[in-house]
Amino acid sequence: MPGKEFTDPCVDCKDAEASLTVRGRRLCSNCYIHYANGKVFRRMERYRLRKNAPKDRRRKLLLPLSYGVSSTVLLHMLNGQLERQAAGGPYARVAYDLHVLVVDPSTISPSNPSCEERFAAVQQRYPMHTYTQIPFHSILQRDPEIKDTMTEFAGPGFVDDVSRSDQELLDAFRASIQSATSRVDIDNILLNRLIVVCAKEYGCEGILWGDSDSRLAAKSLANVAKGRGSSLTWQVCDGPSPWDVQFTFPLRDLFKSELELYAKQIPGLEDIIIPDQPVSENMSNRTLSIDELLMQYVQTQGAKYPGVMANVVRTVTKLQPAPVSEGQVRCALCGASAGSVEDLTGAVPGAGTQTDDHESRFCYGCARSRPDLVNR
Ligand SMILES: [Zn+2]
Ligand SMILES: [Zn+2]
Repeated sequence: MPGKEFTDPCVDCKDAEASLTVRGRRLCSNCYIHYANGKVFRRMERYRLRKNAPKDRRRKLLLPLSYGVSSTVLLHMLNGQLERQAAGGPYARVAYDLHVLVVDPSTISPSNPSCEERFAAVQQRYPMHTYTQIPFHSILQRDPEIKDTMTEFAGPGFVDDVSRSDQELLDAFRASIQSATSRVDIDNILLNRLIVVCAKEYGCEGILWGDSDSRLAAKSLANVAKGRGSSLTWQVCDGPSPWDVQFTFPLRDLFKSELELYAKQIPGLEDIIIPDQPVSENMSNRTLSIDELLMQYVQTQGAKYPGVMANVVRTVTKLQPAPVSEGQVRCALCGASAGSVEDLTGAVPGAGTQTDDHESRFCYGCARSRPDLVNR
């Protein structure tokens, strides 16, 4: 039988009509899925199935799911890989167990939809994993030090009223931070902390973050702008974090637009994803945080010059974490090295005259995000 004729054959399999263009190559849907999966599985090598792995102690990894396109696609990809491993015959084993953690999006921002149905749908669709959903304010219960840290950070006013619920406390704390940039900055730190605490509570040795290459590039630029350059090594690079939990960013070789394209190829996946809110509709550039602004920039410019954005992340990946030597303190809020105690007193504008210990418990980046009391 003569071979099928295609007007626009896929350059990989040459056995199907190409339906999309990826990095200048015309591919069919299946080959694109294969291509994107390959990029992610390569980043998961650290956790591959090992022949002599102890049978009684399987590795456990935490996947924080925000229902954004990236973390949802990551769950879909890893689920597929684990399902294939589990289906490999009577002695089949999977390389690790996945614990999916959802910090209820409606407790992070009231503009997010309620996600009870999504939570049920995602468990039904990927039933082989463990799932937990928690509210954002549960950080006050799970993280024993956070209340003291928040009190020092925002001033004692916000914990004065003992009748306040955890949710009210967290709301008051977040409301005390004035600029959009600082609010998003501190929210991200609190979310990070909550996720790390949960990873430890569930016995997970690592966290699989759903950051795309675009997101990592935006995060790199934003962190430098916010004076948080020193935490880039664990916020962007694969490796150990200050909390003894391994951080991995398996989507680091895919742009956000490529993950959106991936989601379109998988029937039903877009029903789980919460679409990004169009920026122009609900906020002006003045109320955008620097994180949001840079994400917008990376996505628009990244579409034109994808190599440049990939380069930002590749450059950061070459950074070595600064060793924490004796006499150095870790920031009470974000865990970054806060320098030596002497360094810090002078690091914050206006804080040079303050000599109390509290001041030195925060790094430069966090001190900059503090409510106005520092700069008064
Ligand atoms: Zn193909
Ligand atoms: Zn800090």
